[in-house]
Amino acid sequence: MASTSTAKKFKSDYSESVCGYIHNVSALKTSLRTGYKFFNAEFQVNRDECHDVVVFAVEKRTAFVQANRNQSPVKLDRIARRVSKNGSEYDIHCGTCTAISVVADLGYPFKSPSLKLKTIAEVKTMAPKQNVAAVQVKAVHVGSGSETASINGVPVDMQTCYVADHTSRMKLSLWETQVGALVHNKLYEITNVCTREFEGEFYLTATRFTQFKEVAALSAPAINTPFTVEEGEITVVTGEISGVEVSIRRCCIKCRAWQADFNSKAKFHRCVKCGLLQKILNFLPTVTAKVSVSGDFGEDEFKLCNSVLRHHLEEEGLCNLLLDAQNVEEYLLEMGVCAFKLQKSVVIALSKVELDKVEAEAEPEVLVGEAASLLEGEMESLFEEFAESEVLVAETVLAEANSLLDQQVESSETSLPSESVKH
Ligand SMILES: [Zn+2]
Repeated sequence: MASTSTAKKFKSDYSESVCGYIHNVSALKTSLRTGYKFFNAEFQVNRDECHDVVVFAVEKRTAFVQANRNQSPVKLDRIARRVSKNGSEYDIHCGTCTAISVVADLGYPFKSPSLKLKTIAEVKTMAPKQNVAAVQVKAVHVGSGSETASINGVPVDMQTCYVADHTSRMKLSLWETQVGALVHNKLYEITNVCTREFEGEFYLTATRFTQFKEVAALSAPAINTPFTVEEGEITVVTGEISGVEVSIRRCCIKCRAWQADFNSKAKFHRCVKCGLLQKILNFLPTVTAKVSVSGDFGEDEFKLCNSVLRHHLEEEGLCNLLLDAQNVEEYLLEMGVCAFKLQKSVVIALSKVELDKVEAEAEPEVLVGEAASLLEGEMESLFEEFAESEVLVAETVLAEANSLLDQQVESSETSLPSESVKH
């Protein structure tokens, strides 16, 4: 956080001008808190100096994209400078009053800003709740199961991983559709993660804008010091599901808002938050189940989280069942004997058991799993961060920008990650 004295350095009335080149124009984004739309870009004001730009006037995006594509030198009139959240001196804020015009030669060439790659050691010196543009790391530990928590009645999946580069090692939390995105010992470039501090532990958390790209090599080999995560024993319980309650909730692919009164048999649905009418498939299902299981051990009740159920349905090629909760309930009741893989009393995998294999499967399997199970309170705040983090940059100025916003403008674009990240 910058100090107030730095903040006073900048005028707040959109009266300044700046010349340079536009880079990296983002897709349109929607603030989860206010529903307002905006986009980001970078502005090269010198040979080697770039600043982040936030534009609260979506109709200007075409001009930004064109200036970027044509590598045109431009002048932005009536902008405001704000203290940067990323360590550079300032960010540039544009509103509906901002004008963009092409100017003559700037005296320095158009040069794409390099990705602000940080080492893990550098990340560890940052403040909490800061965006980290990119790290290149090795996945040195991948949690064997996803943890689950109930947040405002909505179950959320989380997975704990550890990543390392040549400087240090750090914990990284993954959420929902990101669970399973990392494979142990593989190398990745991970973009748009967020620093986090909770109860004295400093680590990284993925946001809804985080992307994982596998890379062939790191600039230097990742540290290889002995490293173990104390993990729970995994046991397998077999039995038949005798009672089941499945609930399916859906969130908007555009703004991630949870939907009420969703009719999955309709062709379209209008998002309760962003107001966009969209095809039913644009509302991503999150499925959870409560099951009663009877077996040799007696009777027990388990909760099945989204990643466990989805993973199983994907393996069986039955994702189409997710259109209707009762379809899933009927399928579970007719599964016959199932194996529930448990770690710390949490089901981490579900599979069908062929009857003649029941004996062989019954032997408990001892593997390593996750260490400390997280407090629900932490889950909640982490998930909020997952949902809100990208908006942080914008939130600080939204109040003053609100009056400038044109809420009527709609767009078919989205900056949300696709649902391609899977087990
Ligand atoms: Zn929406």
